[in-house]
Amino acid sequence: MSNDESDLIPTGTCWCGCGAKTARGSFFVRGHDKTSESAYIAVYHKGSVPQFLKDHGFGPGNSIVQKAVDEAGWTTCPRCDYVGAPASVRKHEKKCTATKGN
Ligand SMILES: [Zn+2]
Ligand SMILES: [Zn+2]
Repeated sequence: MSNDESDLIPTGTCWCGCGAKTARGSFFVRGHDKTSESAYIAVYHKGSVPQFLKDHGFGPGNSIVQKAVDEAGWTTCPRCDYVGAPASVRKHEKKCTATKGN
């Protein structure tokens, strides 16, 4: 599985490199995972998510989301088109009021 972090062990210091101490078992200070992601895209893909997708061969004709469903265990909400990691979909389902096919 490519979406788990079982090979990585939190070190107690934020992995964004800011040097802050993290909570036990956390890689990042809250929000710094997103900061790291944005920084990576800024450095390697001109700060553009479309560019990032294109650089990896994804886009309108080749769905990265579908690949996540196929290969990384992502699922869809039974009531709407919401797609995400299982934990994220479970959270979404609690507040989802959509009725599929409507
Ligand atoms: Zn940090
Ligand atoms: Zn939904």
